[in-house]
Amino acid sequence: MNGQSEKPTARWLDRSPIGQSDAGSIRKSGVHDPVSELSQGRRRLGFQKPKSDMNSFKYILYARKSTDVDDKQVLSIEAQLTELRSFAKTENLEIIDELIEKQTAKIPGRPIFGEMLRRIERGEANGIISWNPDRLARNSVDGGQVIHLMDCGRILSLKFPTYWTDTTPQGKFMLNIAFGQSKYYVDSLSENTKRGLRQKVRMGHFPGVAPVGYLNDPRTKTIVIDRKKSKSIIGAFELYAKNESRLEDVATFLAEHNILSSGEKRVHINRITSILNNPFYYGNFIYAKEMHEGKHEPLIAKKLFDQVHEVLKQRGRPRHKPKYAPQSFCGLLRCGTCNMMITAEIQKGYVYYRCTRKSKTIKCAAPFIREENLNTQLSSLLQTVSLRSDWAEYMTNRLDTEQAETAQSMTACVGETRNEISTIKTKLERLLDSYLEQDIEREVYLAKKTNLMSKKKSLEEKIIDLEHTQSRRLEPMRAWIKTALNLNQIAAAPDLIQKRDHALRIFGSNLHLTDRLVSGQAIAPWVFLTDHSSSSSAVGVPRIELGSHPPEGCILPLYDTP
Ligand SMILES: [Zn+2]
Repeated sequence: MNGQSEKPTARWLDRSPIGQSDAGSIRKSGVHDPVSELSQGRRRLGFQKPKSDMNSFKYILYARKSTDVDDKQVLSIEAQLTELRSFAKTENLEIIDELIEKQTAKIPGRPIFGEMLRRIERGEANGIISWNPDRLARNSVDGGQVIHLMDCGRILSLKFPTYWTDTTPQGKFMLNIAFGQSKYYVDSLSENTKRGLRQKVRMGHFPGVAPVGYLNDPRTKTIVIDRKKSKSIIGAFELYAKNESRLEDVATFLAEHNILSSGEKRVHINRITSILNNPFYYGNFIYAKEMHEGKHEPLIAKKLFDQVHEVLKQRGRPRHKPKYAPQSFCGLLRCGTCNMMITAEIQKGYVYYRCTRKSKTIKCAAPFIREENLNTQLSSLLQTVSLRSDWAEYMTNRLDTEQAETAQSMTACVGETRNEISTIKTKLERLLDSYLEQDIEREVYLAKKTNLMSKKKSLEEKIIDLEHTQSRRLEPMRAWIKTALNLNQIAAAPDLIQKRDHALRIFGSNLHLTDRLVSGQAIAPWVFLTDHSSSSSAVGVPRIELGSHPPEGCILPLYDTP
């Protein structure tokens, strides 16, 4: 037999359907005779089956849905089924069951496929009909299993309308190549795609779907700001940074601005968290777990992002906070006896404040106090930290001098920050070098890179801040002086909410109510004013040394507290 000694020719690699006429043409060509080769193969393997026995094979029809995006051209399930049934009919093949798989064959572990192999091992069937070898296996494990079952004689026949094979060594060899081709196709496709994406990433363009607030511009293939939605996203960041809203409130806020989930429902809080955690909004982006510098326009400042991040961290779980306290001074004081919060209740038209008595260890019997009484006490407490007008004048003068003096050191500060940035750049380069030299693990590289890039962004923003807010730098201090100067008026005014807000700002959580008496220690910087507001020799003993802080000017003692 001449076909026996010859190696398979290109004809065998052909994946085109081999029907009757095709097989006939091969026979006629005289190069191969698949039918006789088939029987020859069987003889070699010891399957001495007469040709009529072909019809006693029991086949399982296996169809797999194309879940992989890359094989859209492959027939749909319905089309596969129709084709395979008519194929079985013309070939006179007995189908004992039809199995439909909905999972991709890229990774091992398809349940239906596994079940089919188990049934074949049990002897329920000894053949498989499928559209193409790539329907059966696109990974090495599954392909190996099929070939193994052929080796053990459990699978006696494989039928594909698009591919011809048999159980001879040549057949299995070719099948192996077919499986390998499927795998190669999957691998190379994803490799090609990845290569394209990596190139895009290196150019600073995020290669995916734009996050909400942005749009993919199909023309330039870049990501641009969504003018309609971006403002609401910025609003959401600003809202959450205030630390007064829950994630649910942010979802509501977005819903009010027409940003909804795909089901036209309120955006789920998990998604809110991922929006608030997405560095894309301040200009960087994460691709393949790696932080990259984006070319897209940021929506928010890194500083705002950091604030939001801080709040997210603080609140691991959102806690409920009533939007409006029922009474003005609720949540302001703690009970001096048991340290629980002081709440209010209305009795016969009067507002009373009392301990919530939630302590589990102390049975608190602290007395009630009328709102008028509490108001008077809080007012005089506020007055103890008010600023005398001569002090205010002195401090304002010092501030003016300060402002002039620090303009110069500000420039130095900017220069210093620039140096820090270039140090980070060098570090990033070195990091990449050592990663490419394989001195460090990828995980370590990614973690360090993310860290350095985050720092770099903060520093870059610091420079912008320094340059842009130089003139406004002392504004918080001026505002503080103004507030401190006004405290007497605030204390005398009937606005309880304003009083509460100032008391919170000045005393923090230090206010206590013990036996109807309010006490509390002011926090910095207000504590410096305690007991000096009434002092006569004011200018001589200012506790706040305005001229003595470091020339960087980046950290004023009162910078964040007005
Ligand atoms: Zn109490």
